[in-house]
Amino acid sequence: QARKRFGQNFLHDPGVIERIVRAIHPQPDDAMVEIGPGLGALTEELLQANPRLQVVELDRDLIPVLRTKFFNYPELTIHEADALSFDFGQLAGDGERLRIIGNLPYNISTPLIFHLLSFSGLVKDMHFMLQKEVVQRLAAVSGDNHYGRLGIMAQYFCKVQPLFEVGPGAFRPAPKVDSAIVRLVPHDTLPHPAKDLATLQRVVRSAFNARRKTLRKALAAEVSVAQLQALGIDDGLRPENLTLAQYVAIADAVYEAGGESND
Ligand code: SAM
Repeated sequence: QARKRFGQNFLHDPGVIERIVRAIHPQPDDAMVEIGPGLGALTEELLQANPRLQVVELDRDLIPVLRTKFFNYPELTIHEADALSFDFGQLAGDGERLRIIGNLPYNISTPLIFHLLSFSGLVKDMHFMLQKEVVQRLAAVSGDNHYGRLGIMAQYFCKVQPLFEVGPGAFRPAPKVDSAIVRLVPHDTLPHPAKDLATLQRVVRSAFNARRKTLRKALAAEVSVAQLQALGIDDGLRPENLTLAQYVAIADAVYEAGGESND
């Protein structure tokens, strides 16, 4: 019986599972981590390619199911834990970068992605099944309807590549929404490094808390019209019209002017 509170929709379409694993292209030496293995549909295919896998599952009733199903894979490590607060850094060996995979629980996917972005330096790539709209938000560029805090911060750390869509029929129970697979590859060198990450996060959050207002109003507490003008940014624009580079420029100006960071 799938549990709604854990966002459980189990994959059962072998064609879709195979397509996901092909996109991930696991290699024997990869340090792979699967979030939310559930009943092990993806896990089983991942293990075929690379038995060195660590999984993080919150539902304690699934732990014995996984242990039984995969008893003959001694290199599989099962962590019973909440991925939202899990220290993924502890899973990376010396000089190693993780490959993170998950058909994520949709009810917590946004905070979970923010949490995972904080480990970007230790990550080689991430492949997620998400609600299609969340993939659109991750990939959105300025001016798009779906553009906002999630896309800006994901693109600050990673290259975002939407791969393919998956219909509700591939899951049991079927979710009410369409799904899609996305690949996130952390940049080796940040294309737009901010002087202070916490300031950037705060500026972006403030802007999109008031996405219908003009920048002048949305960021009134952070930055003056004169500062925006000095950066060549029209204060009559709306938050959705600014690029990541412009948010970084604003955050740097705020930081240099001595803005306190509350994060
Ligand atoms: N990977 C399986 C599949 O594709 O069939 C299950 C995917 S299901 C959408 C999400 C999985 O994440 C469930 O197994 C659920 O119990 C687990 N989960 C939910 N919240 C979690 C959390 N906070 N930390 C770790 N796992 C969680």
